[in-house]
Amino acid sequence: MNRKRSKIVEEVEVNEDVCGLSSFKKQKIEMTVDEYDKFLLGKKDGRFRRTGKWEGMHKGIAHECCDPECARTWKPPPIQCLTDDYYCPSCVLHHRNNMNRFSDERLKWTADVPNTFYIFSLVDPRIEAKGKTEMSLIKFGRTQHENALKRYPRSELKNYQMKLLLSLRGKLITMTRIENWWKEQAKEKNLFKRFSNSDFHGQTECILVSDNDLAQLITKSKEMATVAEAEIVVPNVEDVAQFCNNSA
Ligand SMILES: [Zn+2]
Repeated sequence: MNRKRSKIVEEVEVNEDVCGLSSFKKQKIEMTVDEYDKFLLGKKDGRFRRTGKWEGMHKGIAHECCDPECARTWKPPPIQCLTDDYYCPSCVLHHRNNMNRFSDERLKWTADVPNTFYIFSLVDPRIEAKGKTEMSLIKFGRTQHENALKRYPRSELKNYQMKLLLSLRGKLITMTRIENWWKEQAKEKNLFKRFSNSDFHGQTECILVSDNDLAQLITKSKEMATVAEAEIVVPNVEDVAQFCNNSA
C-alpha cells in the first residue's frame, strides 16, 4: 500500500475506535413482550409487528409488514429488529438501487432509513497457472449495518487484506444516490475489474483506480453526503421564517 492510500486507512481506523463496536449482542438487552410491541409501534412507527408467540429476545418469531400491499411475513429474532436501520426487508432492501421507489407514496418513508456507503481497498490474489499476480482493487458498496466491516466474513477481510477507506452513514436515499454515482463513474471511465474468485462475497463493484482518481471520488462522495443533508435542513429554516412572519 502506498503512502497516500495508507493515510486514508489510518483516518478511518481512528474513527472506528471512536464509534466503538458496541453491538446489541454484547449489551444483552432484555424486554417483555409488551415492551417489545410498544417499541415497534413507537420507534418503528408501526411499520411491522410481531405476530408469533413470544419466546424472548433471541429466538426467531413471526413478524408481519403492516403495509397491506407488501404484507410480508418473516421470522427475525426480536434482538435483530432493535437497530435504527431495521425494517421490513422487502420494503427497504429488496429495491436495491432503484431511486424511483422513493417517489412512490407507499415507500417514500424508506428514504430516511439509515444506511452506510463504504469503500474498501483489497488485494485480489489472482492465482493462475503461472503463480500469483496480485492486484490492488477498490470495492464500493452499501450496507444497512452501521459498521461496514460486518458486511464481510472475517476470513475475507483477512485473506484479501481488506481495509475500510471510507464509511458514510446517512439516509438511504442519499447513500443510494452516492452508490449509483460510483457505478456511473466506474462505467464511464472503464474502471470495473471483476474479482478473480467468484466465491468472494463482493465480487462485483470492484474497480481498478489510480490514487488521484480515488481521492477525487472520495471527496465528491463526502460532498454529496453533506449536500443531501443540507437539502433536508432548508425547508425547516423556511418554516421558522414563516412562523416568525406570522407571529409578527
Ligand atoms: Zn414490507
